[in-house]
Amino acid sequence: MGDPENGPTPVVERRAFVPKEPYPLIIDGRAVETEACFEAIEPSTGRRWAEVAQAGAAEVDAAVQAATRAFASWRYSSPVERQAVLGAVADLIEREAGSWDLLLPTENGRPVREAGMFDVATAANIFRYFAGLVRGLGGEQIATGDRDSHVYTVREPLGVIAALTPWNSPLITLANKLAPALAAGNTVVVKPSELASPSAVTLVRALGDLLPPGVVNVVTGYGPEVGAALVAHPGIAKVTFTGGTETGRRVLAATAANLTPALMELGGKSAFLICQDADLDAAVTDALTGAFAANGEACFASSRLLVHEDIAEEFLERLTGVVSRIQVGDALDRGTQIGPVISGAHRDRILGLVRRGETEGAEVVAGGDAVRLDGELSGGSYLAPTVLLDPAGRSTVSSEELFGPVVVVQTWREEAEAVARANGGRYGLAAGVWTRDLGRAHRVARDLDAGIVWVNTWFETPMGQPLGGFKDSGFGRETSAETLREYSGTKVVNARLTTERMSLFG
Ligand code: NDP
Repeated sequence: MGDPENGPTPVVERRAFVPKEPYPLIIDGRAVETEACFEAIEPSTGRRWAEVAQAGAAEVDAAVQAATRAFASWRYSSPVERQAVLGAVADLIEREAGSWDLLLPTENGRPVREAGMFDVATAANIFRYFAGLVRGLGGEQIATGDRDSHVYTVREPLGVIAALTPWNSPLITLANKLAPALAAGNTVVVKPSELASPSAVTLVRALGDLLPPGVVNVVTGYGPEVGAALVAHPGIAKVTFTGGTETGRRVLAATAANLTPALMELGGKSAFLICQDADLDAAVTDALTGAFAANGEACFASSRLLVHEDIAEEFLERLTGVVSRIQVGDALDRGTQIGPVISGAHRDRILGLVRRGETEGAEVVAGGDAVRLDGELSGGSYLAPTVLLDPAGRSTVSSEELFGPVVVVQTWREEAEAVARANGGRYGLAAGVWTRDLGRAHRVARDLDAGIVWVNTWFETPMGQPLGGFKDSGFGRETSAETLREYSGTKVVNARLTTERMSLFG
């Protein structure tokens, strides 16, 4: 195609991230190459863009041993030192913002405009937040009422943490694990998703300039092999896992043998109640952000919109009006609003569930199919942003987590019915309500079973707000002061200050 006044459009080179070498494991501060490697595939093109080292049980063991050795001294590092290190990590992430902007969209297909806006800033913010909290980490004195007894608690680090992360928002998820674990004085072995390993290796490698060897290690490879070996290792003090609910169950089963505790951030199918008095412009905007940010591949996605019958028609019209104009394309293109989903297999799984929804009575009112792009992008895993109407919420698409750019609209008449429907699924991660009635807002917030309830907004995640779920969405809380308790244990010191005794045995 050309422009009649200026001639043919120049061919613009696609600027993807080009790694200099295969991504190694990082163990004890050293880059470790392996004989076997696996391929990283770029979702925008479907092409191999990097090679990643594939660990085996021996490398997992070496990483845990290195972290165990490092723990012996890192556990006694001063809060001043930890604060300085975490602040320096935040600076480092921001300094490299330009290269993250290329690497992250190449790795998992999240649009570059979002990677720049959210991932880098949020990851740096997480490290800065925990840098601030470090200096407040301490125990308390217990008032026993006995002046010759001195009882106090100390918070102690746990040991080696196994951190397992998913492929969506890999930099943020890794920051959510590393920052509090290090702040509390633990050492870490990271196992990133096989679908998003390069960003984890890049960050952990860069930490080598700031942390003693072995404090943070990374082993890459397949979940059922490397992940399974790591969580079952007897040297692990705690597992911190973000991923799907079924994988979470397998991980918990493996940790049972060693009684290893775990923090579990799992899936969601979050309901957003739009009431009849909602500000429709704002509610539609919030619903779109909630459903389609990060390609809809977000655990907190507002993937169920429960709209009051009186406004359902207008709401749906406005929603589909915007959805039909959303730009789907190359994640590296700054004009792209929704990039490819993580893989062709994931796209096909989502489409399979959409088709099943249709046979179960749901109606596709926008999108509903794959998007085929030309040239270099022809192998990409693109999916049209999709809106399904399932008024009574009975089809599988209303209960299963699809984890992509698909939202289901349901309708309701009575508030109690809407709340019951929102609480009806197996997940309990997030929920929301849009209403201008203050009483209803807080009543509904009280009654929704979710780790977070957004009122007249969605996706706001300031640091300090504890994030995590109930029911099949997991347990434990991240991004908050209470998170430090997840990564430390309470020890009591009970001391008697005199030699006077009441003797039981003469
Ligand atoms: P998975 O559950 O497939 O994987 C999560 C991690 O576990 C990956 O590193 C994976 O490695 C690893 N793993 C897989 N099998 C095992 C095993 N048997 N033992 C130990 N580790 C294993 O999740 P996805 O990567 O597909 O991520 C999507 C899911 O994550 C969604 O359900 C989403 O809701 C959830 N999520 C939850 C969040 C929350 O805060 N609640 C935030 C973000 C995502 P590998 O990839 O190599 O198989």
